[in-house]
Amino acid sequence: MHHLESEIDRSQISMIALEEMVAENSYARLVDLFVEALPMEDLGFVHVQHEKEGRPPYHPKVLLKLYMYGYRHGLRSSGKLHQACLVNVELWWLLNGLKPSQRTICYFRKNNAKAFRAAFRHFVIVLKDWNLIDGETVAIDSFKIRAQNSLKNNFNQAKIDRHVDYIDGKIDEYHAALDNADNEDTRTEFEQKIDYQHKKREGYKLLEKELEETGAAQISITDTDARAVVLHRNIVNVGYNVQAGCDSKHKLFINAQTGNVNDTHALADMAIEAKELLGLEHMNTLTDKGYTTAEEMARCASNNITTYSSPKESPANKNDLFDLKIFKYDPQEDSYTCPAEQALRSNGNQYKKGKTKVMHYKTKACKGCTIREQCTNSKNGRVIERGIHQEFIEENQKRVEQNPDYYRLRQQVTEHQFGTLKRQWGFTYTLMKGKENVLSEVNLIMMCYNLRRIMSILDKNDLKRRLKDLIHLFLTKMDINKAFLRPFYFSKSSVPIFND
Ligand code: SF4
Repeated sequence: MHHLESEIDRSQISMIALEEMVAENSYARLVDLFVEALPMEDLGFVHVQHEKEGRPPYHPKVLLKLYMYGYRHGLRSSGKLHQACLVNVELWWLLNGLKPSQRTICYFRKNNAKAFRAAFRHFVIVLKDWNLIDGETVAIDSFKIRAQNSLKNNFNQAKIDRHVDYIDGKIDEYHAALDNADNEDTRTEFEQKIDYQHKKREGYKLLEKELEETGAAQISITDTDARAVVLHRNIVNVGYNVQAGCDSKHKLFINAQTGNVNDTHALADMAIEAKELLGLEHMNTLTDKGYTTAEEMARCASNNITTYSSPKESPANKNDLFDLKIFKYDPQEDSYTCPAEQALRSNGNQYKKGKTKVMHYKTKACKGCTIREQCTNSKNGRVIERGIHQEFIEENQKRVEQNPDYYRLRQQVTEHQFGTLKRQWGFTYTLMKGKENVLSEVNLIMMCYNLRRIMSILDKNDLKRRLKDLIHLFLTKMDINKAFLRPFYFSKSSVPIFND
């Protein structure tokens, strides 16, 4: 018995074609075809055209291929991508042996934020044309990623107060020590410490002023758009809440946003953006209860979007008091009828509550009510707050209760993709700063996900044929000769596809 031995001699020169070293069904081959089919100039990528003088830049297709390959394989930093260019055979093939520097790779991502977004949207429209996305039902959900900003560099008023109190205590301590100092060296040492603490205090006071002037609840120093968010089970860190819209047909991503800290006011913007991108007349959305906000649902309804969002529990329900559902609302009379058969009415005034407006419904009958203990703990009797768009909440609740199986699709449509991006592809943090740049990175990884996903949905040869058709379509729209003559526009490996 002996160990397996290689027949390769390291010192022997071998005749190897890169073409033979990449598997026929490799993801790299699809990335190659996919990027070739993109109208890079229309999408806004820089350096598609370049100056005649100076050092020639890499064609953006080279760098986009590198990024699309890397993000799929958990290689996201410019350092790792550069290293992969040196050692990864599939990347030798994909980039035709080009090895962009770490700096070039890094600046490409930074300078093409808008183009990444445009490319993702372009891909979604292609998927719609291929009937892989129908837009009939779109599930919207969010996941959190860490930002390039430590928790130490994120402040709110309470945190600033804590720091200032601590510094004040230190300054008092040093002053007391200074009074008791018996030689010049010690005095100088404490005076320096006091100066240092005063400078720190000034810094915190500047932050406090900025908070006051901007009206923001918190401030992040390294990435000013990042916010403290609950990442997982009460663990707070500084990051982004990424909104994602997914189509129910094949669970493909449609759109994303990075602006909201929580889901409360995200539904309408996301739904309207998805509907407009897909050019639909009508659309259904599936969301969890974090999105159940009357104003958002009213906006959706006015844009012909039907919401199926998990109803929120009424506050009284948590205290084992009469559930709000027991109170019957009469839209004709604009009143509620309580379990004691009394009518609760509004005085017509609207009261501001957060970003919304509500009306109060109450009755004087609460005073002598025999079942009051089961109804309210308030000494003024039961008050029902009704938002001015409450009817949209009630209609949504009815729809969800009448279609429980349809609503249950929500989890199946979104959660799997988030798991893949975060657990398998390591997308638990962003490498970019600023919400626009972070969104570009989100769009890039979603584009990679969609491409990888359709590899599983379509037959490989069918997918290649569709991509080749796209390239042909693209070529007919431009100067074909120019396209073939441009050095990096088409990789040598992809030229034969036109002879198929
Ligand atoms: S406490 Fe007021 S609202 Fe509640 S059941 Fe009695 S009368 Fe009706």
